[in-house]
Amino acid sequence: MTQALPDPPESVLPGPLLIVEDEALTQRRLCAILTGLGYQAEAMQFAGNLAEARSLLAEQPFAMVLADVGLPDGNGIDLIRELSRRDPALPILVISAWSTEQIIVTALQAGATGYLLKERDDIEIALSIRSALRGGAPIDPFVARRILDLAGAGQAARTGGGAPAAPLASSLSPREIEILGLVGKGLTNREISEVLSLSRLTVECHIKNIYKKLAVNSRTQAVFEARTHGWLP
Ligand code: CA
Repeated sequence: MTQALPDPPESVLPGPLLIVEDEALTQRRLCAILTGLGYQAEAMQFAGNLAEARSLLAEQPFAMVLADVGLPDGNGIDLIRELSRRDPALPILVISAWSTEQIIVTALQAGATGYLLKERDDIEIALSIRSALRGGAPIDPFVARRILDLAGAGQAARTGGGAPAAPLASSLSPREIEILGLVGKGLTNREISEVLSLSRLTVECHIKNIYKKLAVNSRTQAVFEARTHGWLP
């Protein structure tokens, strides 16, 4: 027998999500933000420490991981590194109170897709989560500034007589640098394909080549590398 099905939602939300966070208050806050984005309770799994996170990850695949850095049984960055090695395409968003350079850079190098500060308001966090779900690499404006400062300092150190920078830039085509610039502005592959009038497949192909040439496995790392080398502002 046939039965009328309800209208499908506008877009299917990728799920389930794993939230690794030890503070009950922040867990509740993220739960409310994700519910606001359309997530049902059963599509969100919460882990209060690394051990719980690892056991949930062993049971099922997740579409995205939101990770805290300071956890009772260790460092969230270790988990990010493990996850990123296992699946470089998995979006991992850090939501942390920490804004020190070392932690930010280590998290991004470990494979975090984005980095947000807990001090941001709910709407900013919601927009960043949505951007990460769509393939973006949301970076807190404060964090972005720190990265740019670091990149500037790194460049100054190199031009001050250090070892010459690796000649990677010569291997990036002008088109690849153009695409990387748009990635750095937070555009998704779909938006980039629209801006440049290229097919989405072509954009994805360029991005894969950029990753390969820069020996990175995320948009954030690619942009970070490009800025460190001074190819992007
Ligand atoms: Ca914590």
